[in-house]
Amino acid sequence: MKKHNFSAGPCILPQSVLQKASEAILNFNDLDLSLVEISHRSKDFVDVMENAKSLSLELLGLQNKGYKALFLQGGASMEFLRVANNLLEKKAAYLNTGTWANKAIKEAKLYGELIEVASSKDNNFNYIPKNYTIPSEVDYFHCTSNNTIFGTQINQFPKTDVVKVCDMSSDIFSRQMDFSQFDLIYAGAQKNMGPAGTTLIIIKEEILGKVSRVIPSMLDYQVHISKDSMFNTPAVFPVYVSMLTLEWLKDLGGISAIEKINNQKAALLYSEIDRNTLFKGFVADKEDRSKMNATFNLIDDSFSETFNNLWKEAGINGLNGHRSVGGYRASMYNALPLESVQVLVNIMKELERKA
Ligand SMILES: *Cc1c(COP(=O)(O)O)cnc(C)c1O
Repeated sequence: MKKHNFSAGPCILPQSVLQKASEAILNFNDLDLSLVEISHRSKDFVDVMENAKSLSLELLGLQNKGYKALFLQGGASMEFLRVANNLLEKKAAYLNTGTWANKAIKEAKLYGELIEVASSKDNNFNYIPKNYTIPSEVDYFHCTSNNTIFGTQINQFPKTDVVKVCDMSSDIFSRQMDFSQFDLIYAGAQKNMGPAGTTLIIIKEEILGKVSRVIPSMLDYQVHISKDSMFNTPAVFPVYVSMLTLEWLKDLGGISAIEKINNQKAALLYSEIDRNTLFKGFVADKEDRSKMNATFNLIDDSFSETFNNLWKEAGINGLNGHRSVGGYRASMYNALPLESVQVLVNIMKELERKA
């Protein structure tokens, strides 16, 4: 039986998607060829790429609004520098909410002056800073919507007239919002969309072409847009599986439908973390809690061996917290069923009975 997979990334994908993907590895579209051995310029694969791009824009409500979707390689980490290379002329403003934001800041500093508008570093990133100001003269503002490692999530994005960039690697397609408030969104596929190996980038085209530096082709969003994500060979398998996951999401009713389930999963787990006398949540303020990655600790570490045995016996995978936080992290991405969260909650109750 399939495990209850709480892995933070690469993470659980819908079983029906894995089934279709495994069939395409052997015989894609009845071509009597594998998906991974045909030309990326063949009609069959070009259709996959076009479908993946248009589904992305459709699900986010960004069709016909001046946005282009790209599927590129290098992970979200590549976008840390590609964003700065394409947009940073003099100064940029960054919100520092954890490890990934930090890494984005480090890369962008290679290209210009950085202003850290706020940081939650003082408390090991267990909250989302609020009430900061974004200087009007910056080239862009960058934030991370969901902090995969620390388990915080931005609920109120700042209103600003400057170009707004967001790393949505770990919560894209998980909740409704006005995505048109952003000018550039990027997300590594392996958290909520597909296998590792491709990154979805959504860009409002009008923000490009404004920096004076010469941008190497592979870093240049305009080059990738003009070549429809085919400037070089795309990651055919990750793009195909991402397309299947986006189709799965559309069939389910889109982001608003999955958001309801994600809210149920988060409510179920957080209410148990709050109720159970053996556990405490890592995030300081309940309104900053991530619905994708719930971080929590045992109050008394002497129960950890019993707890670890219980969840492993129950078929749970991937519950250990990140090394910088410790404790536990339950990642509840789109494809994780509510029943898996129920199994975890039952284990937490069982531990309390045994204690
Ligand atoms: C995982 C993650 C990254 C890094 O993604 P890679 O594809 O490994 O480069 C960046 N940002 C966030 C928010 C993440 O969760």
